[in-house]
Amino acid sequence: MTILQDEKLLFTPAIPHSDAIRTIFAFPNQYSVGITSLGYQIVWATLALRSDIQVSRLFTDFQESLPRYPELVGFSFSWELDYVNILSLLESLEIPCHSHQRQDRQAIIFGGGPVLTANPEPFAAFFDVILLGDGENLIADFINAYQEVRNADRPTKLRHLSQVPGVYVPSLYTVNYDSPEGEITAILPIDNNVPAFVSKQTYRSNTLSASTVVTKQAAWENIYMVEVVRSCPEMCRFCLASYLTLPFRTASLESLIPAIEKGLKVTDRLGLLGASVSQHPEFETLLDYLFQPKFEGVRLSIASVRTNTVTEKLARILSQRDTKSITIAVESGSDRLREIINKKLANDEIIQAAINAKAGGLKGIKLYGMVGIPGEETEDIAATVEMLIALKKAASGLRISFGCSTFVPKSHTPFQWFGVNKMAEKRLKYLEKQLGKQGIEFRPESYNWSVIQALLSRGDRRLTSLLELTRGYGDSLGSYKRAFKELKGQIPPLDYYVHQQWRLEQVLPWSHLHGSLSSNVLVKHLEDSQTKR
Ligand code: SF4
Repeated sequence: MTILQDEKLLFTPAIPHSDAIRTIFAFPNQYSVGITSLGYQIVWATLALRSDIQVSRLFTDFQESLPRYPELVGFSFSWELDYVNILSLLESLEIPCHSHQRQDRQAIIFGGGPVLTANPEPFAAFFDVILLGDGENLIADFINAYQEVRNADRPTKLRHLSQVPGVYVPSLYTVNYDSPEGEITAILPIDNNVPAFVSKQTYRSNTLSASTVVTKQAAWENIYMVEVVRSCPEMCRFCLASYLTLPFRTASLESLIPAIEKGLKVTDRLGLLGASVSQHPEFETLLDYLFQPKFEGVRLSIASVRTNTVTEKLARILSQRDTKSITIAVESGSDRLREIINKKLANDEIIQAAINAKAGGLKGIKLYGMVGIPGEETEDIAATVEMLIALKKAASGLRISFGCSTFVPKSHTPFQWFGVNKMAEKRLKYLEKQLGKQGIEFRPESYNWSVIQALLSRGDRRLTSLLELTRGYGDSLGSYKRAFKELKGQIPPLDYYVHQQWRLEQVLPWSHLHGSLSSNVLVKHLEDSQTKR
């Protein structure tokens, strides 16, 4: 009960009418994690604002009073390994995990969120309906279409829903392979009445989203989140956060400022969200607004700033608004490599950002980079070490940490055809040793985790049985390898999904799902990057 008492709602839910659609909207993780997801908050509020929906929330450790026979059960899917929790929650609701096993009287299971919009195929069997893209209009279109067929049988419902732009019904498509372990040869709708392609939906407006609930039980206690920008115009060749969500959209100050004031009436903690917050064209004005004395006690967090926008002024505002350090993504210390990935940033600018951070009173700077970037040579890794040494010297006294992941190919990006570089693990070790000698804190992301991410990122429907086996074994790479061994001959090997370079002509698992840019444009961007090598 205390969870509900701690919630401060920033909207007024509608009173459901007696015949409202009984709906469960779940986040497949703990309450504290789910309620910190702005996407989850928005979709929940969208449903709760409708009097034709009676929505109850479900998390792995908390649930509202649930209807005995729900008609719709939705999942906001933000983290790949949460598929395990989706299956457990379905079981707890006594709903079969596979779409094809569900009966007429059982709920339609729908899902959305970043994991499914990027590549739903490994999880396709678990969902009746997948919503691709921004939820703002899509949710309403989906619910309205459902209302039209609410009393029909399941096949009729699914066929009708498949006509809504952005609504993907996986069971209405067949995937052909050249052999059980081979490539996909075609992905086809089961007949002419099903659309051949489904396009991700894009919300276009200069009003973006803001928290609908604030609670001290959130992972970021009492945070009120405001989305300042959506997508990122930089288009680094590997970046899902940019390519999948294009075009770049910005919230107008006319919409942002009232939204911020509304939130700061109930809390003093403000988060500015977006893949590239400081790219907002009026970012400086926004900072001036937040620097007013009336906001003195406000704790401010900024999700992401572009390195060359770290000015002394920004650092000062952040340090006076209770932020101790700043995080910047530099990817590499090699100018050559950054050209390959289209990161428009020079080493001098990175060093200047650190100098500015220190001058503005921040105590630390966290840099993020990557190894295994396509085209990377050992000299590029050495260049990263050199750059960090130079940075430490230029901003002495500033706490420096370097977080480093391994390149993972992501769908709908120009680097989707590349595999994970097997040298990456060795390169992480090299960085650890060299940076350790210099007293620079090094925080590598697990190479094994990157391998699992790549598997799910480029996976197809054949991974369903693998995921079910792994579920019982735990989420370590060893568990996945064990499952691959058991399924040998029935599905392609791990290497096929994770490390192999795929041909440009290959049918990709998501070829029937269209992102923001066409495959031809992605190939063009890939070719541009090759000219920088
Ligand atoms: S600047 Fe960051 S968010 Fe923008 S495209 Fe590059 S990596 Fe992605």
